[in-house]
Amino acid sequence: MRRRAPNYSLEKNIGLGFALAPALAILFILIFAILPVSAQETGLETRYALIVFTDEADLYEFGKKLGGPGSMVSRANPNVRAHVKESVDRIVFRVKALLDMHPDAMKFTIVLHSTEKGLNDAYRGLGAIADPPIAFYSHKSRTIHMILQDASDGVFAHEVAHAVINFYFTVPPPAQMQEILAQYVDRHLNEN
Ligand SMILES: [Zn+2]
Repeated sequence: MRRRAPNYSLEKNIGLGFALAPALAILFILIFAILPVSAQETGLETRYALIVFTDEADLYEFGKKLGGPGSMVSRANPNVRAHVKESVDRIVFRVKALLDMHPDAMKFTIVLHSTEKGLNDAYRGLGAIADPPIAFYSHKSRTIHMILQDASDGVFAHEVAHAVINFYFTVPPPAQMQEILAQYVDRHLNEN
């Protein structure tokens, strides 16, 4: 949903001519070398998901909120990515088991929002007029949007349940029924 504005004008200029192309290429590289890392979205691929975030610290925060073994790793720990990957896939696996729904070839995107505005914009972008929730899943884009400050393993599992249900059924069950199933998952997530 977020767009990188500087990118756009450069792309338009590339068509200007052969002579300009090398100069523009250098300019392009320079601009991207100078840009702070936080201005760019980065992705982390897991078995089931692609996590999109803007700051490594956000990824660390997400991992901490998902809990599980290794969640106390320090921010400087190179295993942060491995931990987040493992946690996401562990929870997706657990949700599928709880629902006893095993869609094949399930892959979705997780967008981590560090501000309320980011999440609200994404929600309104769907044409929704109600107050934005703290997290939601859109099957049209196969994307879970979450706001970091309100994230937890339960909130994440709830949204994953919506994803699993929508991937599993050709005709997804009514919203009310999905909600009951997703709440069931949320409640029983950490039971044996
Ligand atoms: Zn729900």
